[in-house]
Amino acid sequence: MADELTRRARRIAEFIEPLRVPPGEKVDLGRDFDPRYKAGIKKKTDGQRLLREGVDMLAELQRRLAADGTRGVLLCLQALDAGGKDGTIRHVMTGVNPQGVHVAGFKVPSPEELAHDYLWRYANRLPRRGEIGIFNRSQYEEVLVVRVHPELLDRQRLPDPGGHKSVWKRRYRQINDWERYLTENGYSVVKVFLNLSKEEQRTRFLKRIDVPERNWKFSAADVRERAHWDDYQRAFSEMLSATSTRWAPWYVVPADRKWFARVCAAAVLVHTLIEIDPRYPDVGEAARRELAQAREQLVKEAPAGAPPDPYASSADAERRRKR
Ligand code: AMP
Ligand code: MG
Repeated sequence: MADELTRRARRIAEFIEPLRVPPGEKVDLGRDFDPRYKAGIKKKTDGQRLLREGVDMLAELQRRLAADGTRGVLLCLQALDAGGKDGTIRHVMTGVNPQGVHVAGFKVPSPEELAHDYLWRYANRLPRRGEIGIFNRSQYEEVLVVRVHPELLDRQRLPDPGGHKSVWKRRYRQINDWERYLTENGYSVVKVFLNLSKEEQRTRFLKRIDVPERNWKFSAADVRERAHWDDYQRAFSEMLSATSTRWAPWYVVPADRKWFARVCAAAVLVHTLIEIDPRYPDVGEAARRELAQAREQLVKEAPAGAPPDPYASSADAERRRKR
C-alpha cells in the first residue's frame, strides 16, 4: 500500500517535471512550451481517468491538511482570456470539501483597492492554515495587464511615476519576497499558467459568440486584448523567467486541450500536498484515555439486541493494517 503511494507520488513528480520553469532560467513561451503537448497520453478518456485519480488523492490530502491545521496552500492561476481557468478550478476541485477551499477572483481593482499598495488586495484573500486557496488571476496581473497597459500603473499613484522602466524588475523582486515570506510561514505557493495558442483562443471566442449559453462569457474587450497578443507573450515570458523560484515555482500547463490542462493542474496540486505530507494529528495520551472512557459509557448504553459497538472490529482492522 505504502509502496503504491510512493510509486504514484514519483509518477506525478515525473509527469509535472517538464512543465516546471527552472528557477533562474530565461524562458521564451513561444520557443520553449507547446500548448498542444499532451505527454504521450493518447486518448481523452485516459486523461479523464487520470484526473479522477488525482481528484480522489486531492480530496484525501485536503482532509489531512485541514485536520493538521498548520499549513496552507496557495495556487495562483493565470491565463490569457479563454485559457480555461474557471473550468480547471471546477473540475480539479470537485470532490474536495468546499469548506476547505477558497477561490478568490481578481478583476479590475476598485477605488478602495487602488487606495492601497498593490499587494494589499491579494494579501487580504490568502487562505487560512488548513485551507487550499485558489487565486483566479493573482498578484501577477500587476506585471501582466498593468505592464501591457501602462496607463493602469498611473492609476496606482506610485510615488515615482517616472519609474516605469525599473518598476517591473522591482515588482518581480517584491512578489518573490512576498511569496518567500509566505512559504517561510507555512504556506506552499504554486503557480500555474494555462498556456493557450492564439488559434485555440480564436476558436474558443467564436464558440462563446455562436453558442447562446456561452454569450455571457464573451466580452468585446477580450478581442481588443487579443490584439496585444505579442505584448502579452513577452510579458508572460519575462514574468515566468523572473518569478519561478525554488520556493514558489511556475508550471506552464499546455492548455489547448482542456482535459489535459485539468490533469496537469490536479497533478501540480497533488504534488504540492504530497510534499507537505499533512497528517491527521495524534490526539495524545490524555485524549485517548477520554476516548476510552466515553466508549465504555456508550457501549453500556446499547439497547437490548443492538451491537454494543458496531465499529470496534473495523477500527481494530484499521489499527492492524497500519502496523
Ligand atoms: P475576467 O477574469 O474575465 O472577469 O476579467 C477580469 C479583468 O480584470 C481582466 O481583463 C483582467 O485583466 C482585469 N484585471 C485583473 N487584475 C487587474 C489589475 N490589477 N489591473 C487592471 N486590470 C486587472
Ligand atoms: Mg474574461
